Amino acid sequence: MNPDDISALPLAPLSRPSSGASGKTGFWRTFRPVIDLEKCVKCLLCWLYCPDATIELDENDYPHVNYEYCKGCGICANECKVGAITMVREEI
Ligand code: SF4
Ligand code: SF4
Repeated sequence: MNPDDISALPLAPLSRPSSGASGKTGFWRTFRPVIDLEKCVKCLLCWLYCPDATIELDENDYPHVNYEYCKGCGICANECKVGAITMVREEI
């Protein structure tokens, strides 16, 4: 299997962000990921590795962060191999 071809991965259940006992949890964040779509090569690693499943794809398969649930862990920025995601401190 080509490791770069995620379409070859077996189907598995996906969770989706939703309001739970803690409500919308995006306010926990101290840094927010900002995606530069000019640099994005649509590898979808950020989408794959986000532990909160808060990265959604638009109709052209570009990723967008759902800030209502993103907790600012920075995993997406660490996984992006082309440096398209920057963690920016939240204004308080
Ligand atoms: S910062 Fe963390 S929670 Fe937010 S989109 Fe990136 S990986 Fe997901
Ligand atoms: S990891 Fe980077 S290049 Fe890949 S889809 Fe996400 S923002 Fe785009």
